[in-house]
Amino acid sequence: MTSTETFPINSLDVPRFVGIPTFMRLPQRAEAEGTDVSVIGMPSDNGSPFRTGARFGPNAIRSMSAMLRPISPYRDGIDVFRTLQCADLGDAPVVPGYMPATLEAIQLFFDRVVATGAVTIGLGGDHGCSIAELRSVAKRHGPVSVLHFDSHSDTWDKYFAGERHSAGTPFRRGVEEGLINPEQSIQIGLRGSLFVPSDVTQSIDLGYDVVTWDEWSAMGSHSLINRIVKRLSNSPVFISFDLDVVDPAFAPGVQTPEAGGPSASEVLMLLRRLPALPIVGADIVEVNPLYDGPGQITALLAATVALEIIANIAAGRRERSIGQPSD
Ligand code: MN
Ligand code: MN
Repeated sequence: MTSTETFPINSLDVPRFVGIPTFMRLPQRAEAEGTDVSVIGMPSDNGSPFRTGARFGPNAIRSMSAMLRPISPYRDGIDVFRTLQCADLGDAPVVPGYMPATLEAIQLFFDRVVATGAVTIGLGGDHGCSIAELRSVAKRHGPVSVLHFDSHSDTWDKYFAGERHSAGTPFRRGVEEGLINPEQSIQIGLRGSLFVPSDVTQSIDLGYDVVTWDEWSAMGSHSLINRIVKRLSNSPVFISFDLDVVDPAFAPGVQTPEAGGPSASEVLMLLRRLPALPIVGADIVEVNPLYDGPGQITALLAATVALEIIANIAAGRRERSIGQPSD
């Protein structure tokens, strides 16, 4: 692997606004071979029932990710990119306006990457894209445990004229297709008004554990982390992070905002305190820069969430190399 080692551009040497934006200024690669973690854009909003524009999400996240630095003070000063080989593989191909064709194209792209053993970090795109990455990841690792951040359950059955794939359906389809083990999965942050009383209980009926934002805020991060870790049971983990889990005061640039919710600090604190998990894939979805605020705060938060997930993977790698947990 040493011959293919690659590092991000150092922003102390080259100013952040210079060059073509990749995620955290990582090298862009055509192939995943030799990488531990591959970042891949999923520029599709075919599945958006409300504010379209998440197709522009991946590049908005990349632009703001230039702000981030490689060392995590929250994990004993680990240098993420000297612990893991990471690259930006660019965007998966998509077919605007055609959901099934888009899901197939995204999955084919991920299949190639996942087959190399790399962990994939998908940048959405609307939440409908998740099913494509889940299909690839589960093909290699078997049914995954999902840690799902969202103000919505995304376990609805059908939309409009009976459409089975949209931003509101991936966590039902994933169970039906055997990609997700709901008994070892947890959805956190749900809130707001409902279509029907079963909007939340439908997830529980599928087998998920559900922690609403009201419950999260009452129990606190520490208790929630214990519940998450117990639930995931050390099986292969897929983290799916919908930016609308965050209070739109802090993350306005999303498709379907829900008033209230955790602050940017509260979700970052939770991510930074999570012990190293056996993460096999992740996505950060629903960033819609067309509705973002001045300063691109939603895209900056999404980039930071992606880094915290990669830092978690790096911490796991370090623990395995020294043979003991760091905390
Ligand atoms: Mn969602
Ligand atoms: Mn949502």
